[in-house]
Order: sequence, then structure tokens, then C-alpha cells
Amino acid sequence: MTQDYNSPVVILLGSNLGNREQILEEARQSLDELFGYHLLYSRICITPPWGFSADQDFFNQVAVAETWGDVPEKLLDALLRIEENAGRHRSSSVGYSSRTLDLDILYMGSQIIHTPRLRVPHPRIAERRFTLEPLCELLPHFKHPVHGVSNTTLLEQCADPSQITWNVD
Ligand code: ATP
Ligand code: CA
Ligand code: CA
Repeated sequence: MTQDYNSPVVILLGSNLGNREQILEEARQSLDELFGYHLLYSRICITPPWGFSADQDFFNQVAVAETWGDVPEKLLDALLRIEENAGRHRSSSVGYSSRTLDLDILYMGSQIIHTPRLRVPHPRIAERRFTLEPLCELLPHFKHPVHGVSNTTLLEQCADPSQITWNVD
């Protein structure tokens, strides 16, 4: 893989249920298999649940792939399958709940996608420190195609008071 991230596909991995470290490790393997090469991964950051309370904090990590060669919905389908294999069950209740694995598409290059199933860039990037911190580790200068500013600027402007720490192996 070259280090040419003109059109990066950026995925947020999150887990706060079960063996979070192992779940993320298996998810990284699945993503590498899906794309056919080793993606670039941020460190894992640990953050309190955002928008709800739960027993365990979240482990969050950002993955960057060079590009996605198929229609965007096919990537979403593949990510939902990886979540399911990790034991993710979506409850019908309103609001957020604990999950073994969450895989969100943050960016697909500078594409703006609005379909009933998929919104890219992910609509809540700018509000979430747990997303922006690991994102800035890998792509500090990448410009959000809607807001028109870099991830670093979004982090500087982010009002999320959440405390984050970094996982040390
Ligand atoms: P949030 O989107 O606020 O992080 P969540 O990750 O808990 O919430 P889910 O229950 O995992 O939400 O996803 C609900 C649906 O969101 C998915 O089935 C998918 O169709 C849709 N969705 C829309 N845009 C995206 C995206 N960029 N990445 C992943 N899923 C998306
Ligand atoms: Ca999410
Ligand atoms: Ca999700």
C-alpha cells in the first residue's frame, strides 16, 4: 500500500461490551481482510460513553484505508456483517446502548453521501472528542468536505468536555 491518502476511507471502531481489546483486534483483522492489505490504525483511546451511561468505557480507534473500489453501500454492508460476527445486536429501543462493536464510516474521501442508509461524512464527527482525537492522530490536515476545515481545527473547536485517555499495551 502506498501512503497516498488523496481519497481516504476512514472508519471509526468502537467497543464497550465484552473483551474490548480482543474485539477490536479481531475487527482490525476483518478490515485488513476486507481491503486486502493492512490499514493504518490510530492508537486506542478510552472514553466514557457519549450520550448514555454504561458499565464499561469505550475503546475507540480510527482506521484509514487508501480507497474503496465499490459502491459505498457495499462497504456499509460489509461493516454491518463484521459487527454481527462480533456479536453486535441492535435493540429496537430509542437511543444509544452498549455494543460489542460499532463500525462507522467517517469519510470516503471528499464524497458527500445522503441516502436513507448512509450519511458520509458521518454527521457527528465534529461533536465527538472520541472521534476527533484518534482521527487527528492519523489525518490532522484532512479537510472535512462539508465544514471545509481540517480535523485539527474541528478538534480545537470541539466543545465536548469528555476526558479521554490512551490505551497503553
Ligand atoms: P451514531 O451514528 O450516532 O454513531 P450508532 O453508531 O450507535 O450511532 P448504529 O445503530 O450503529 O448507530 O447505526 C444505525 C444506522 O446508521 C446503520 O444501520 C446505518 O444504516 C446508518 N448509517 C448512516 N450513516 C452511517 C455511517 N456513516 N456509518 C455507519 N452507519 C451509518
Ligand atoms: Ca457510532
Ligand atoms: Ca454505527
